[in-house]
This record gives sequence, structure tokens and C-alpha cells, in this order.
Amino acid sequence: MSDFWERALVYPIVLGVLALLLWPIAGALPAALFFGIGILLRLRMHLRNLAMLEKWLAAPEAQPVPDGTGIWEDAFSQLDKMSQRHRKECEMNSSALQQMEQATSALPEGVAILDAADRIEWCNVLAENHFGLDSERDLGQQITYLARQPEFVNYLAARNFTEPLILRDHRRDNLVLSVKLIAYGNNKRLLISRDITQLERIENMRRDFVANVSHELRTPLTVVNGFVETLHDMEHLENDMSRRALQLMGEQTHRMKSLVDDLLTLSRLENDHNPLREEFVEIRSLLDEVYRQGELLSEGKHTLQLQIESHANLLGSHEELRSAFTNLLTNAIRYTPHDGTITLSWLEREGQAIFAVKDTGIGIAAQHIPRLTERFYRIDRSRSRETGGTGLGLAIVKHIAIRHQAKLDVASEENKGSTFALVFPAKRIAQSQ
Ligand code: ADP
Repeated sequence: MSDFWERALVYPIVLGVLALLLWPIAGALPAALFFGIGILLRLRMHLRNLAMLEKWLAAPEAQPVPDGTGIWEDAFSQLDKMSQRHRKECEMNSSALQQMEQATSALPEGVAILDAADRIEWCNVLAENHFGLDSERDLGQQITYLARQPEFVNYLAARNFTEPLILRDHRRDNLVLSVKLIAYGNNKRLLISRDITQLERIENMRRDFVANVSHELRTPLTVVNGFVETLHDMEHLENDMSRRALQLMGEQTHRMKSLVDDLLTLSRLENDHNPLREEFVEIRSLLDEVYRQGELLSEGKHTLQLQIESHANLLGSHEELRSAFTNLLTNAIRYTPHDGTITLSWLEREGQAIFAVKDTGIGIAAQHIPRLTERFYRIDRSRSRETGGTGLGLAIVKHIAIRHQAKLDVASEENKGSTFALVFPAKRIAQSQ
């Protein structure tokens, strides 16, 4: 028999035996009375314990577990242990939660958890500041009811979160946020926002500075260049050395002028107040023009091919597209040894229009490819300079691509050649007018 039953039955058995012993001595009625009173006393003890249990259950956090009497003592002691364990677990959980909250509050980024319907489940203090939320009042609310900027609403609706969204809030101190959504778990999303107002300000200052310096340098450079050329062409120049010096000065001022021109072009492309011209660009004639320019530059040293497979035209800026196409072709000519072949092509693939320049030149090692569009990134400085490069060509191409929602793809192998391709999305394609 288990310990519980032993202890539970010992009292009624002893009481029964005593009552049986009393029966022959005192008679049946007193023995029955003795047994009945004993059972009633036991019942009272159970009821009292039950009442204590009920009272404790009404507010378990506010009072200790009662001690209990008889067989209840053991049960209450087990309950006490369980309740202490539970309390400890709760304390641990709440301290872990507190630590999590402290850690997320210390994050330099705003964090909010959204459910499948974009309702806010939780957010930290920075997210409250960034989106004007109140973590107590707005929990369960759809975030787009509270942060209503159309770009943000569209970003959430598009469900394409590969690129962060730059969100400018002109009402709130010109706040600039970089917003990113990350899908996780069961249809949940983490909204991460970073305040990049200061970064943008510095970037704007840098841009203005470069634009202003380039602009200021332009006039003096043109004047110096003009004089150097005039002096160089003068017939009564004293000696060869002077002539050579003037020639070198001319080359260097010319280089500086190209650099200033490229810097100004980049500044114009980066300027937010310079929207893209949305004109119909007839690609066939543009390619003919670029091809002819390539022939002049190559001076017959390369085989140039033009392959036009598509009748598609583009919507965009004629001037910018010409500059991007020419830049890519010029590079191919500059980085391809004599007798190499350069192929310009225009085609359509999977609804996208592609302009590609393929060369059989010196190629590019894989580790350089991701950095080619950085300003002044050159693999071989002297080759770039010798061939008249400024180190800004591909940075210009990248900006033009971004303005046309296009992508610059580079495939290359050292000593074999390279292919630079501008891939335009379907929305940029315009059929013949
Ligand atoms: P640069 O004026 O130096 O040519 P770019 O921005 O046009 O500047 O190009 C950056 C670098 O990329 C170049 O210095 C060169 O090393 C490399 N590059 C560009 N186009 C090609 C090409 N077709 N073949 C090999 N290398 C190239």
C-alpha cells in the first residue's frame, strides 16, 4: 500500500478498532457514538484544510502556502515547493525580458515587431521616436495608420525588402531614416529604422564642397590652359626645353580640366534637385553615334563590332545615356591591346533591355570587380593615367544607371576580357514612336 493510503487509513482503522473494543464494555450505542464523533472530527479537519487551500488559491502571490494538518501537511508542502519553483521561473523570465528590453533600448536603431497584417506587436523607444508611436497606446494598431507617408506604405505593400527605404520626414526636423524590414518566424516582420539625418547632412556638405571647388577651379584652369596652348604654338619659342615644358604643362592642365569636368558631372548626377529628363531616346541612332566616336578613338587599332538585336528604345535622358555608353566603350578601347575586338550590343532578355560592351582586353581580377564603381578606384594607376582616365568614369556610369533604375553588370576574366552591361527594366523600354 502506498504511503498516502497508509497515512489516510490509519485514523479510521484505529477509530474502528477502539469502537469495537468499547462495544462489549459500554454497549453498541456509546461505541457507535464514539466512532461517529471521531469521523466528524476528521471531517472537520479536512474541511478546514480545504478552506485554507481555497483561501490561498484566491491570491497565491500575496500569501505563503498554509502549513496544513494531517495528510494535508505533505500536499501543502509539495504545493509550496511548486509555487516557489514557479515564482523563481517567473522572476528569471521577467529578468531575461527586462534585459532584452534594456538591450533593445540601448540599440542605436529603432526596432518594431509587426505581425502578418502589419500590426505593431512590440517596439523600442527609438522606434517610437522615429515613427511617432506610443508603445502603450499603439500596440495592435496597423503601423501604416500611424506612419502614413506614401513611400513607407508602398514599401510595406510591395513586400520586396532587399533594399532599405530612405524615408524623409519634412515635418519632423527634416528627419531622414533608413528603414529595413526583415521577415522572420511565422509571417512576422522586424522593422529596423536608423536615423541617418546627420550622415545625409555630412554627405550633402561633401557633395556641395566638391561641386563648389570644381566649379571654382574651372575658370582659372581654362585660362591657364589657353595661355599654355598659345605660348606653345608661338613660333619664336627660345628652345626645345621650353617647348617641352609647355607641352607637359598643357597635358597636365588638360588632365585637370577633365577631372574637374567629371567631378561636376558626378555632382550634377547626385543632385536631388536635378530630376532625370524623361525623353524618348532613339537607341539605334545613339548607338551609331557612340560607335563612330569609338572608331575615332581606336584609330583603327581594334576591330569594332555593332550588333543590334532589338528595336527597343528607352525612356530617359539622351545626354546621360550617351555619356554612360561612351564611357563603357572608351574604357574597353583603353584597356584592350591593339588588334583586340570590341563588340557593342543591344538586345532584350526576359523583358529587360541590355546594352553591353564586350572586349578582349586585359580583364579584371575578381576581387576588384565589386569596387570598380568607387570614385578613383583604379587597378593600375599608371595605365589609367596614361590613357587619359580620371578614375571617375564608372562612378558616373553607376549614377546614370541608378537614375534610370538600371543595373551595371560586370563579368571579366584576367587576360581574357570583360563585358560591361547596363540592364534596363521593362518600365524604361519605349517602343518606336
Ligand atoms: P579610369 O578613368 O581609371 O578608367 P573608370 O572608373 O572608368 O576609371 O574605371 C575604373 C577602373 O576599372 C579602371 O582604372 C580600370 O582598372 C578598370 N576598368 C574599367 N573598364 C575596364 C575594361 N574594359 N577592362 C579592364 N579594366 C577596366
